[in-house]
Amino acid sequence: MVLLAALIIVVSPPGTQVFSARAQSPAEFDIVLANGRVMDPESNLDAIRNVGIRNGKIAAISARPLRGRTTIDAKGLVVAPGFIDLHSHGQDDENYRYKARDGVTTALEMEVGVSPVAPWYAQREGKSLINFGATVGHIPAKMAVMKDTGAFLPRDNAMNRISTPDEVRQITDLIKQGLDEGALGIGFGINYVPTTTRAEVFDLFALAAERGVANYVHIRHSGAVEPGSGVGALQEVLADAAGTGASLHVVHITSVCLRQTATCLSMIEGAAKRGLDVTTEAYPYTATQTRLESAIYDEGWQEKFAITYKDLQWVATGERLTAETFARYRKEGGSVIGHAIPEEISRLAAANPRVMVASDGLIENRQGHPRGAGTFARVLGFYVREQKALSLMDAIRKMSLLPAQRLEKLVPAMRAKGRVKVGADADLTIFDPATVIDRATFEQPALYSEGIRHVMVGGIFVVRDEKIVEGVKPGKAIRRTNR
Ligand SMILES: [Zn+2]
Repeated sequence: MVLLAALIIVVSPPGTQVFSARAQSPAEFDIVLANGRVMDPESNLDAIRNVGIRNGKIAAISARPLRGRTTIDAKGLVVAPGFIDLHSHGQDDENYRYKARDGVTTALEMEVGVSPVAPWYAQREGKSLINFGATVGHIPAKMAVMKDTGAFLPRDNAMNRISTPDEVRQITDLIKQGLDEGALGIGFGINYVPTTTRAEVFDLFALAAERGVANYVHIRHSGAVEPGSGVGALQEVLADAAGTGASLHVVHITSVCLRQTATCLSMIEGAAKRGLDVTTEAYPYTATQTRLESAIYDEGWQEKFAITYKDLQWVATGERLTAETFARYRKEGGSVIGHAIPEEISRLAAANPRVMVASDGLIENRQGHPRGAGTFARVLGFYVREQKALSLMDAIRKMSLLPAQRLEKLVPAMRAKGRVKVGADADLTIFDPATVIDRATFEQPALYSEGIRHVMVGGIFVVRDEKIVEGVKPGKAIRRTNR
């Protein structure tokens, strides 16, 4: 008892007489996170504090003890803003569970996006473990108009044929409708619809500029082979951003720029310095994942990605491919992992304080890429603790504040996320910095991360003591209201 009192005095320098008053007063807060290491990337606060939560908001951050109906001992744990994943394809209960156990409180589908938008939100409202949202997608709009038969990504008409002027008008109408319904921006995967003309992309950037939304883009090409390099593809969208005034977010920079990632990061940094609103993200893995039947694996992929059949891993079985199985599975269709990103490139992006952390994750019936389950814990455990590639505060900023800022001009609700401050939403991730680590692997992707102790969405626990809290659905729709 003496030891405990001494401890509290040590961590709460001024006003220890509050300690005795505390015993009589009724609970002031719904929940108190006691004696955690509070890390706020906006103010750079990094200190032992007590956090009081009331009505889903952070109501107090104090060096003095606080009294709550429920008190969680957070000693030795970091109290961080809940992580915001801008690139989360998995938008169902299975995926939200992996996200939550990885510290994610908001999962957004910004790259492929969705169309139509209104029913997508309606399906999830009141039924989601964590917060969710999406852009309106150029790909799904194009697949619908051109009657592509692919699942999720194009496999024939939208990929092989140039849209007629009438089809471009219909695609644009669907995108406008999605924006009218509150979509968070426009999502593009130009690489998946390579017959899309540069004029079509430019015109849609102009629409985004007019509506004040950002474009989230998987660029037209990847790799170093010219013509058709990742650098050239990045130049296309930077020029479109400059020519229209639209905001641009380039997704998974490492998987498109590969060994030229440093050049691509310089291009983005230079454009931002000269006044363009350009940002980027990466997932912390050395392999890609996509559909084998998509345009990504059109003729020439070996040269582009500097890999061959044995570097491809078939998700359904885990087997490495050969020329023969490649041909067979491409006809069948399905997910494939491509071991194509050198470790030093992954590390370069992980260490860069401007590059947001985003998973690109999708787990389907326990199969997929480990990024769907382990992205955030992997950055914290592997790149921060083990590799010392970046500071813990920088990592937290890349996972919370930067993605919140990417969206908050359009979506004022995001100003209350990505921070641990009074008045902010109580979307919080409480983890053990000494043990946090990903467990998902390429062979076994459906393994929860470790060391993410508690996760709270709007003041409701969705993870407690490293277990999903069953039956709670506090996730809210993140959408534009000022349309
Ligand atoms: Zn992509």
